[in-house]
Amino acid sequence: MKITIIGSGYVGLVTGACFADLGNTVICADNDEKKIDMLGRGEIPIYEPGLEELVKKNKAKGRLVFTTDVKKATRDSTVIFVCVGTPPREDGSADLTGIEKVSRTVAESMDAYKLIVEKSTVPVETGEWVKDTINRFKTNDCDFDVASNPEFLREGSAIKDFMNPDRVVIGVESEKAGEILKALYEPLNTKIVVTSIKGAEIIKHASNSFLATKISFINAVSNICEKVGADVTSVAEGIGLDRRINTHFLKAGIGFGGSCFPKDLKAFIHISEKLGYKFDLLKEVDRINEMQKDLLMEKIARLVWNIRDKEIAVWGLAFKPDTDDIRSAPAIDVIRRLVKEGARIRVFDPAAMERSMEELKVEGIKWCKDIYETSDGADCVILMTEWNEFKEVDWDKLKKILRQPVIIDGRNLYDPGKLKAMGFRYAGIGRN
Ligand code: NAD
Repeated sequence: MKITIIGSGYVGLVTGACFADLGNTVICADNDEKKIDMLGRGEIPIYEPGLEELVKKNKAKGRLVFTTDVKKATRDSTVIFVCVGTPPREDGSADLTGIEKVSRTVAESMDAYKLIVEKSTVPVETGEWVKDTINRFKTNDCDFDVASNPEFLREGSAIKDFMNPDRVVIGVESEKAGEILKALYEPLNTKIVVTSIKGAEIIKHASNSFLATKISFINAVSNICEKVGADVTSVAEGIGLDRRINTHFLKAGIGFGGSCFPKDLKAFIHISEKLGYKFDLLKEVDRINEMQKDLLMEKIARLVWNIRDKEIAVWGLAFKPDTDDIRSAPAIDVIRRLVKEGARIRVFDPAAMERSMEELKVEGIKWCKDIYETSDGADCVILMTEWNEFKEVDWDKLKKILRQPVIIDGRNLYDPGKLKAMGFRYAGIGRN
């Protein structure tokens, strides 16, 4: 098939490269000229394992091209995937101006039947607005369908997730749209859930909100564990081995971040309220998540006393390992708070340094080349992201270079017993 992707970011680029690899001809369009220039030169603007190879391979085979001409890209394909950002607004609602703009552009360039597929995460009833916008602005009297096909890939394992999904969700209102999308996903050999557009839109928001709820639940349990000296990691195992619950997303930590969970949770709360239902359960999920960062600040103060003038080593910036994405990353928020309280920060992340430098334009941060340079002379280490390369640490060396042997393990990555026996003061999340 000939496919156009509008919006070539984390989701659009992975979707485009994967569909091309499945044998389709894909045009990836984006209005960011710098991004398209880079992609044209074979450079990948984001860090995502395996993506560079996949893009290069499919570009070389002529199945993947990049353009800033969204109108032509629309005319040249039948299936148009909309993958632009839907960032949060101040009140928690999703900013859908990008979706509206693209809908208008598609309407103005359509010259034959088009299937416009929402892949961006959008609140329920966005499909209605997309249809309405296209009907109002189309300049040719051609047929079109709108569909919803939410994306569930995770940054860091995006290609694997796209190619081996647990399920594909398709929200359609016509048989033709359903048949096109089913044919497109057939090679993935997975369960396809066909529902209405509204159903598909709700599935995405509800899935992310449910996963966020699991994380906040175990974080709440971790606070009880801490109070009585139990270890949340074994408590979580004991809960999660029940197959009805399962162990995924039951890891206590400093709270969820990233470009999806916080934003989608808030957007789901907002749209529910707009529709007349107060989703208080999800408000509490959000509150618990924010509280995890307050508790982390309290832990730091408990172990180093005054934060002012302390040298703090932060290991990890990305919201999770194997990505350079720092959108709503807890590390960024915690660094801002520490700097505000007068701490000096030394920081290292294997992939997210450049993005963080752009984001954190504050005084008092030293950007280091590894965890040892970060820790040299520091009063406290805080592990924020559980990168694989942070798993093996030369603890003897670390103890020698730290001013105070204090470890705050925000991801419960290390063995508290071992570190305490070596003379470190250790605090994890939900275990002492
Ligand atoms: P992103 O910011 O990385 O990419 C969006 C791209 O759209 C950017 O390159 C931007 O330049 C482009 N764009 C914006 N307006 C445009 C326009 N009018 N015309 C052409 N291009 C335009 O965002 P992302 O992380 O890929 O997320 C995209 C959507 O997918 C969001 O709704 C997000 O919630 C959802 N989603 C993201 C993930 C994830 O892990 N990142 C997973 C599932 C779903």
